[in-house]
Amino acid sequence: MRRGLYLGRFQPYHLGHHEVLKQIAKEVDEIIIGIGSAQKSHEIENPFTAGERVLMVSSALEEFNIKHYVIPIEDIQRNSLWVSHVNSMVPPYEIAYTNNPLVIELLSEAGIRVKQSPLFKRNNYSGTEIRRRMLAGDKWEHFIPEKVVAIIKEIDGVNRLKTIAQSDQE
Ligand code: NAD
Repeated sequence: MRRGLYLGRFQPYHLGHHEVLKQIAKEVDEIIIGIGSAQKSHEIENPFTAGERVLMVSSALEEFNIKHYVIPIEDIQRNSLWVSHVNSMVPPYEIAYTNNPLVIELLSEAGIRVKQSPLFKRNNYSGTEIRRRMLAGDKWEHFIPEKVVAIIKEIDGVNRLKTIAQSDQE
């Protein structure tokens, strides 16, 4: 049994994440998705709750027909202990997939095999760009799997983002 771990914040889950997971699904028997910064929500950089992100990732993954586990992981104050913290929350795995330099460094120092994936249309398939578009009233739906678009609409996510971006100052 070959399990692979894919870590991300998924604020929101987009087609870049989806392409990476499509590749990972060809390489392993089971996928573990760690939803990072699970404690964060209702912030401009982190609008969606861990539960909403679990829903986004698990709905999108139905397409690949692979057994998967979606596990929220809260941040901790001490980077040097983070990999042990992650490992205490997820099933055993033999390879981790990430392009995040800090995550690569922490996993590698812990002796975990890390594989980087190609970046797909990084200018557009990017959480920052998608949240910017949501706030600006520009089109964002074509950067996200259809099932995830439906979830964001169901939870009225764009209006939440617009509301939390407002200020009560003049
Ligand atoms: P993310 O959602 O930005 O990205 C997830 C993965 O997808 C990354 O590997 C990223 O490179 C990749 N990706 C993004 N766009 C892509 C595209 N267009 N094509 C291909 N791949 C693409 O999440 P992230 O910031 O990497 O998440 C890391 C999580 O780990 C964060 O929640 C962070 O807080 C957490 N973390 C916590 C600690 C701690 O608590 N001390 C330490 C390290 C990391």
